[in-house]
Amino acid sequence: MIILGKEIDLNLFKEAGSALNKAPAVSQAEAVSHVANAAGGVNFTTQTAKAVESAFALTDTHKLVGANDAFAVIADYLTTEQPALATVATTGAALLQNLPFLNQTAFKNRSVVIHAQLTADFSPVTSLRDLGLPILVSQTAQEAQDLALVAYAYAAHAQTTVLHFFAPSEAQKFNLIDSAAVQKFIQATASSEKIIDEDAQFDTLASLLHNVGKYKPYETVSTAKNPTDAIFLLGEASESLSKAVHADGSSILLSIRLYRPISVAQVLASLPLSVKTLTVVEQSSHTQQFSPLLLDLFADSAKLFDRGLTKVVSTNFGVVSDHAVAVATVLGNTRAEKPIQNLTVGAAEQVCGADVAAAQAQAQTLESAYITMLQQVNDRLTILNAQSSDSIGDAANPEFGYGAFLNGEEQKKSLVGLVQEAVRASVFSASLTKRLSEWLVQGKTDSAAIISALEAEADESKTAILALSSHFTESSSWIVGSDSWSYDLGSSGVHHLVSSGKNLNMLIIDSEPQATDRKVNGFRKKDVGLYAMNFGGCYVASVAVYASYTQVLQAFIEAEKFEGPSIVMAYLPYHSESDDTLAVLQETKRAVDSGYWPLYRYSPNETEPFKLDSSSLKKELKDFLDRENKLTLLALKNPVLARTLVASQTNDVKEKQEAKAKEAYAQLLEGLSGPPVTVAFASDGGNAEGLAKRIGRQALGRGLKATVLAMDDIPIEDLSAEENVIFVTSTAGQGEFPQNGKTLWDGLKGSLDLDLTGVNFSVFGLGDSQYWPRKEDAHYYNKPCKDLFAKLAFFGAGEIAPLGLGDDQDADGYSTGYNVWIEQIWEGLGVAGLAGVEEPKPLTNEDMKLGSDYLRGTIVEGLQDQSTGAISAVDQQLTKFHGIYMQDDRDVRDQRKADGLEPAYSFMVRVRLAGGVSTPQQYLKMDELSNTRGNGTLKVTTRATFQLHGVVKHDLKPAIRGMNAALMDTLAACGDVNRNVMCSALPGNRKVHSQINEASKIISEHLLPQTTAYHEIWLEGADAGDKPGDSAVWENRVEGPTKKKTLVAGNALADVEPMYKNLYLPRKFKIVITVPPFNDVDVYAHDIGLIAIVNESDVVIGYNVLAGGGMGTTHNNKKTYPRAGSMMGYCSADKIHIACEKIMLVQRDNGDRTNRKHARLKYTIDDMGVEAFKTAVEEYWGERFEAPREFEIKSNIDYFGWAQDETGLHHFTCFIENGRIEDTPELPQKQGLKEIAEYMVEKKFGNFRLTGNQHFLISDITDEHLDHVKGLMKKYKLDNTNFSALRMGSSACVAFPTCGLAMAESERYLPVLVSKLEGALEEYGLRHDSVTMRMTGCPNGCARPWLAEVALVGKAFGAYNLLLGGGYHGQRLNKIYRYSIKEDEILDTLKPLFKRWALERHEGEHFGDFVIRVGVIKPTLEGKYFHDDIPEEA
Ligand code: SF4
Repeated sequence: MIILGKEIDLNLFKEAGSALNKAPAVSQAEAVSHVANAAGGVNFTTQTAKAVESAFALTDTHKLVGANDAFAVIADYLTTEQPALATVATTGAALLQNLPFLNQTAFKNRSVVIHAQLTADFSPVTSLRDLGLPILVSQTAQEAQDLALVAYAYAAHAQTTVLHFFAPSEAQKFNLIDSAAVQKFIQATASSEKIIDEDAQFDTLASLLHNVGKYKPYETVSTAKNPTDAIFLLGEASESLSKAVHADGSSILLSIRLYRPISVAQVLASLPLSVKTLTVVEQSSHTQQFSPLLLDLFADSAKLFDRGLTKVVSTNFGVVSDHAVAVATVLGNTRAEKPIQNLTVGAAEQVCGADVAAAQAQAQTLESAYITMLQQVNDRLTILNAQSSDSIGDAANPEFGYGAFLNGEEQKKSLVGLVQEAVRASVFSASLTKRLSEWLVQGKTDSAAIISALEAEADESKTAILALSSHFTESSSWIVGSDSWSYDLGSSGVHHLVSSGKNLNMLIIDSEPQATDRKVNGFRKKDVGLYAMNFGGCYVASVAVYASYTQVLQAFIEAEKFEGPSIVMAYLPYHSESDDTLAVLQETKRAVDSGYWPLYRYSPNETEPFKLDSSSLKKELKDFLDRENKLTLLALKNPVLARTLVASQTNDVKEKQEAKAKEAYAQLLEGLSGPPVTVAFASDGGNAEGLAKRIGRQALGRGLKATVLAMDDIPIEDLSAEENVIFVTSTAGQGEFPQNGKTLWDGLKGSLDLDLTGVNFSVFGLGDSQYWPRKEDAHYYNKPCKDLFAKLAFFGAGEIAPLGLGDDQDADGYSTGYNVWIEQIWEGLGVAGLAGVEEPKPLTNEDMKLGSDYLRGTIVEGLQDQSTGAISAVDQQLTKFHGIYMQDDRDVRDQRKADGLEPAYSFMVRVRLAGGVSTPQQYLKMDELSNTRGNGTLKVTTRATFQLHGVVKHDLKPAIRGMNAALMDTLAACGDVNRNVMCSALPGNRKVHSQINEASKIISEHLLPQTTAYHEIWLEGADAGDKPGDSAVWENRVEGPTKKKTLVAGNALADVEPMYKNLYLPRKFKIVITVPPFNDVDVYAHDIGLIAIVNESDVVIGYNVLAGGGMGTTHNNKKTYPRAGSMMGYCSADKIHIACEKIMLVQRDNGDRTNRKHARLKYTIDDMGVEAFKTAVEEYWGERFEAPREFEIKSNIDYFGWAQDETGLHHFTCFIENGRIEDTPELPQKQGLKEIAEYMVEKKFGNFRLTGNQHFLISDITDEHLDHVKGLMKKYKLDNTNFSALRMGSSACVAFPTCGLAMAESERYLPVLVSKLEGALEEYGLRHDSVTMRMTGCPNGCARPWLAEVALVGKAFGAYNLLLGGGYHGQRLNKIYRYSIKEDEILDTLKPLFKRWALERHEGEHFGDFVIRVGVIKPTLEGKYFHDDIPEEA
């Protein structure tokens, strides 16, 4: 025979006639077992109980009890052991019980055949319809054998699970397939090919069916000439049924062999053209209000109509005793003018109580589909309330059901008490006492047996027990209601259920079509699922029977199993009860596809609590998940909470869970009593938002219905509908509204006739009265809140409390004003004197480091989280230690917000390149990564290393692995550790440069964190982005980070940080080396500045050590200031790394860990005093600094152009404006450097050096290659040094668009500004006079502006503080000359000063010195005096 294109000899039993006569009859289970045993592989059999043998006779089978989550065990086995082939022999009922485990990946990716024996009930077949697995149905023992073989062939071929159901039938004699042929057949068909396309799956299975026994997917069992009607059957195609159809004379019977995938086209093709009606018949022991099979056909309804069918009618076969009558009934119904849909023929085996029957009777016909399904998965179903419509407050509502549940609990408690008493007193027979004891212990029993035994007892105590005997059976309690309960969660009792923690289930059937937008009793509809998930501790599912029948069943089963409250929200949209199936199907599809009704299941105790079963999510749900992700990540980070996610049930954990639930509830939901209050914030930096949330929490704690949202989330037209609204706004730019308040403010400004007389309001503003020191700018202070207050009052809104002003300059900062104002708010809202809630302690950076497990945090989990391009706030801090900053594109932030998108997150990745030398191979790797993983450009940083920008989350790992593959890492490039050590570029002296370069590396490695987290997170294992040999590079790296954990006591391997301990440093720490007379690294600007002392033989004998330089400040915070390093003394070269270590350790132990704005070494030194600090270092060290050696520094800009070192090698310092290596039409520098690097690799020469002024040296060029390199440099305009001296002495930080802290442009603006100054400089004859000029987007000072002769530090968009008077050699700090000036003022201020300098300067006098000498600005001689003597007119 041909199977999948291969010739296979099945070697059937040849002596058919005589053998059949001798052979015993074979049942389906035996036939299946025969094929399964011959197929080999691992076998599993499920049984109803340990003692009850299965009907299957599998060899070496693992026996599992179906009810004990047997398929979870099997899934685990498949995952861990990965057998080539597995067989599971089970029953339809066991499969249904295990439905939640069947969509685990293990079943989708492994060759498994599940044989399931059915009873007369075929509903398990359709129950599994949405699992995406092939489903075969066989009728006879012969078919069971043959289809079993098809199942194995397909499972082996497509590497998936195949479900094979077989209906009960008489045992038969037939040809058993030879075992060897079975094996050969499976081996021949096995492949690793996945068949994704459903049509291809169908074709493959159809071809296998045909080849095994000429079977068809849809078999015509009875025939008639020119039939007009067809019955499409999923059930037993018995002989009597076939005869009955045949007897009808004008109908045919089509039986399903292949149920999944289903092909409507093939079903129709199987029908003679004369057929005009199709009766869909499903055999089920439950009454059906819903036909999955009908939905299968309607999924392709167009084909039905195109085919010309006039009717498609669904019918359910219960227990049919007379098929002739049944067939006549169903066909009669179909042929009637108005056929009844979902007619049940034959008795259904109802196993339900009166409550279920009553609920079904009351339920609308469509809605009762859900109750039937509940019943299908649960034979102990109790419906506690009368399920009905919109009414709230009668026996139908959930509170009634909840009361009934509590009553039942009380009764059960009484029963337990009575039974305990009876057992203790031994009033009954020994056997009954034993049974009752077992019930007490196990909670399960054969209640009927107990009751009959009790009745036979003589003792009178039996009467009370018998009265409560219904509670011997553990029932499954459900409350069923409609979506009307979603309008007021508090009154509807949904809240009671969710907060009760009781093991009680609620089914809410939502029948509102998507377009409907109604209110009930003035309440807007709430998202019950979101509410319950936010509350915590509750199982939640959102299902839709017309979208996924299987998922509904899964949700019901999971809700049943969940120990605690469960809510299943079920969608069934219809406009009127007469809506037909197709209309409901289409409406459901629309709602599910659009995300209006997402399908999901949420089980808080699972390691992966949320499972999305549809593809679209509405925004609120996505927000919840993002938030929940963060909670989960936080929980994972905290070992105590982490345990709650797995198993621990200690009180401690429960308390924490409850606290979390309460917090989520308080934060996220409306209060359920008290007047409403909306707290709206406008916030750029997060302070106003944080304060608004705090007000919201306190309001909730006082019983108000508080909602916190961004100002712009209130549409202007909705503002008048607010009752109480409180605004909190910070001040942006020049007294402007923050971004998320601008739209509402513009709306208010533009309104003419807004009526806010029904609105009560107040406003609190956050500002800094000193931020605009100039008198004319003073009105910017808290301008937005003042404007808003006035505007709201203008439109007639009433004051809850007067305007509140928070001023950073007050003794307690903004709290001074806030504390007064907020009491007025509570007074105004009538809740003064009530206690609020305790505010959670904010998480500090120290907490984060301590809890990070040596810098791991939840970075791994965050990288895997595909729901967002971001990582959690804590991980954002921790990834800095790994050289990574999370950023977002601020150019598109507003637009993305308007589009409902999260910010365009990406990451900056910084290399640790100690010494600043890059091989051409390393450069090429960075060039490649910038193109493939970054934004196409490379940044040379102010610390002489590479930075990639625009790396999106999923590119992070490949980018970092790529760098490591070229022997560059990113560990400690940022973070509270010693960062990259840089040194002078020194093109003219190779010997000295080699020594300081080596010293940089030694210091960097010596102070490198020892955590293994870096290797673990970024480098361990394989990655799809790796190139051949990549991992071998870092595994064999000599100078790379230590990757082995340390052996500690008890033979345990652990991370140990001998220098940093587990808190690392209080703040970042930077070290540089310079060689006089050059100061291209700004030796005074860093925590440690080393000035190399070189002898006559060009040997670096030691270093003068400076400590306590630092740049970062905060605008108008006089406690912060830039500082130039203080001289500690001289240290010999061989001990310099130890001296650096000791300085760092004194800072580790004495730095301020409570205030990050005061945590840098510069403040530690000033707080301790320079001498005391030096003494402390010497004590740590055990040695003393010698007196500093003489040195002279003459320049701190780069030496552009060609230089030749003492060995004859050539070096060229290229001018790369602000360090951005990119290709522009005018300057294709990136391409040029790439070609030079490629040439160097090819010819095996050369290197590159990076400078702290963000420029780039093409280095170590031998004579023989000089001309070629020069040619390339010329071609790509890399040889151009014909710039003004001002431009060549200028430097800017990155700022916009990527830096999250930028207040103003920098890198993109400084070149423009320089161009505007150059004309004037030319005019004054200053084109070649060097001036150091630096610009940063904020006062953090990344480009070291405070040491420049001219500096511009961003204050607001387009506005800068201008500073003058820095030392040309980087030896003296500058001082503020003008506050917050814009471009025209900058030009108007600088041009006359330059002119004066040109005219009045002394010989060789630098601009910075000049402005001091002529009294334009006072010198800043020490950092702590930076804020003194600022000109009054500034
Ligand atoms: S100085 Fe400020 S704006 Fe510039 S890169 Fe540093 S943090 Fe960003």
